[in-house]
Amino acid sequence: MHHFEYRNDSLHCEDVPVAHIARAVGTPLYLYSQATLERHFKAFQEAFAGAAPLVCYSAKANSSLAVLTLFRKWGSGLDIVSGGELFRGLKAGFEPRTIVYSGVGKRVDEIDAAIGHDILMFNIESMEELALINQRAGALNRRARIAIRINPDVDPQTHPYIATGLKKTKFGIDLATALAGYREARRMPNVEIAGIACHLGSQITSLGPFREAVTGLIQIFRELQALEIPVTYLDMGGGVGITYHEESPPRLDAYADTLIDAVDGTGLRLILEPGRVLVGNAGILVTRVLYRKQGKDKIFIVVDAGMNDLMRPALYQAYHAVQPVEQSARENIVADVVGPICESSDFLARDRSMPDACRDELLAVMGAGAYCFAMSSTYCSRPRVAEVMVYGDQFDVIRRPEDMQDLVRGEQLPHWLTKPSDPW
Ligand SMILES: *Cc1c(COP(=O)(O)O)cnc(C)c1O
Repeated sequence: MHHFEYRNDSLHCEDVPVAHIARAVGTPLYLYSQATLERHFKAFQEAFAGAAPLVCYSAKANSSLAVLTLFRKWGSGLDIVSGGELFRGLKAGFEPRTIVYSGVGKRVDEIDAAIGHDILMFNIESMEELALINQRAGALNRRARIAIRINPDVDPQTHPYIATGLKKTKFGIDLATALAGYREARRMPNVEIAGIACHLGSQITSLGPFREAVTGLIQIFRELQALEIPVTYLDMGGGVGITYHEESPPRLDAYADTLIDAVDGTGLRLILEPGRVLVGNAGILVTRVLYRKQGKDKIFIVVDAGMNDLMRPALYQAYHAVQPVEQSARENIVADVVGPICESSDFLARDRSMPDACRDELLAVMGAGAYCFAMSSTYCSRPRVAEVMVYGDQFDVIRRPEDMQDLVRGEQLPHWLTKPSDPW
């Protein structure tokens, strides 16, 4: 459920007309509903209420400081995948002891920063990383808590680019190696074994993969028990899917029960890393129609947002509903909704049956709260767009749109081009 609804044929975000915000801020713009974020977070927490898990919001889905701060206030921890996300998380006020750090390519400086802040744990993705973390913790006179991220070789039945728990992917460590890793970690003076982790992928719409994975992880827990290696946490990662179009993702209580039942009696504390399921349907992209172009074979609705602003359709052929901000009786057409970028993959919707659209009108690209602004770039020298938060009848800009100066910030000419005797 979300708070984007038509009232008198005009799309509202909570109690504010979307068109009003577009006039005030300009387009394109991302719009988030705080009430939706809160509802999703509370529903997630409530589904797991009996188990008192640590919910670590996955920052990469939407790492806006405003979004991070809201989740922190509601009691969330944080799942990070870079030193930059650690920086953002600390800036948003997260207690380091609620931060878990995943990712196959952690750099030394990133590891040092996380050890320095004494985060809750590192989810280890390779034997070399394990050795490095032990070494860096030693150099910094600390003990680093770790979990090994297991690659359970489970097919999450999602888009191949967001499947991470199959053995052919770069993520996690296979079962046999993981057991050897735990044995080694036990002998390392500067690491403390804290948990077992996994993350299967994203936009998973059935419970089977989660059930299969948690069963495998509990088996590893039993083997560790037999080796007298104690663990506190079972980190099941994120991955719960949402409805973009016709998907029917599992109910949160069914998802929670699957995991709670599996850990029942083990004494393990669950960690969860939800991203998309919390923020995906809490945001939209508002864009303006620049031209309605009648091509030879099809109609193109050319809008002012492109693949640099919202990359998911270009990257994964992802579906986002596109709807008019002001509804009216009109003909349905089949069209491509495209941006101004010079690539044929620059589309927001393709062969889409939609109400006809005309020049200057506003369109809403739905389900744009997760992996949308976060993946945006300045390709084609297009400044990044504004982000706005709505709460009831109020709204505020949480990220101003970039300007032309932002585009060239940090750039300079090589010194030989700036000499007075410049031969060029
Ligand atoms: C991306 C990611 C998540 C969040 O995944 P969602 O599908 O957005 O819930 C959680 N954990 C890890 C390790 C990730 O890389």
